[in-house]
Amino acid sequence: MPGSIDLHTHSTASDGTTPPETLVRAASEAGLAVVALTDHDTTEGWDAAAAALPDGLRLVRGAEISCSRGGVSLHLLGYLFDPDDAALAEQLGVLRDSRVSRAERMVAMLVADGHPVSWEQVREHADGTVGRPHIARALIDSGLVATIEEAFTSDWIGTRGRYWAGKHELDVIDAMHLVHAAGGVTVFAHPGADGRGRTVGDDVIEEMAAAGLGGLEVDHVDHTPETRERLRAMAGSLGLLVTGSSDFHGSNKQVRLGENATAPGVLDEIASRATGVDVL
Ligand code: AMP
Ligand code: ZN
Ligand code: FE
Ligand code: FE
Repeated sequence: MPGSIDLHTHSTASDGTTPPETLVRAASEAGLAVVALTDHDTTEGWDAAAAALPDGLRLVRGAEISCSRGGVSLHLLGYLFDPDDAALAEQLGVLRDSRVSRAERMVAMLVADGHPVSWEQVREHADGTVGRPHIARALIDSGLVATIEEAFTSDWIGTRGRYWAGKHELDVIDAMHLVHAAGGVTVFAHPGADGRGRTVGDDVIEEMAAAGLGGLEVDHVDHTPETRERLRAMAGSLGLLVTGSSDFHGSNKQVRLGENATAPGVLDEIASRATGVDVL
């Protein structure tokens, strides 16, 4: 929808296929009023996106942080935090380093089974934070799978699949404290995306709300209508903001920019709570 607000996208700074400067142009051409750049565990794309920001488009700078709670992986969106905050920047660096060693482990397991893939092939696809989509691309290059979706099955690199390896994740409450201390606002990304693995229970969402969580990403491609209604009700009862976003990954994922959107008043509230950096 023209004029809409999309608060979750990925660029080549992580596992999207669109460079940050191209992403903001595409967002403008798609008619968005606001786009957030939220690459996995990095702020690397912020400057390029800001420098290329077209007239009429506003940019929310953020990141999607790899977290867990009680052995369950989850993703935390941090918005408008200070990228130079030493404690947060250090932990993001630890997450990125762990992603490299974990991806190397997955490639080593594939090679040990005689599959013709190499670390160099993965590196050709990864400009920034390394992720499984880059390994999926290497599997396609080698003719081992036909699609990214096929790579994400249990025979290959799907969660807990044959060639999957875990990565370091921050305890989500610790991560929230880091983002808040850096002046940022937190939103729980796709809390009900159970098609990809386990999701946390309501008790964890309540704990996060008590620790100052800003909102729940309710409108997301991985949520069924029933899940959205359940999460919307929960946000209401816990006093949390409701966001919606595309989780755009370029050609690594079948979603369009602006496919889901956030209400203007919600963005105003996020912006007014943040003290790290401004909406550009
Ligand atoms: P990683 O963070 O390296 O564990 O990889 C997770 C990323 O892989 C997600 O952010 C998505 O971009 C992508 N992904 C996860 N599950 C799938 C899937 N079933 N099909 C395609 N991409 C997926
Ligand atoms: Zn991703
Ligand atoms: Fe995510
Ligand atoms: Fe994402």
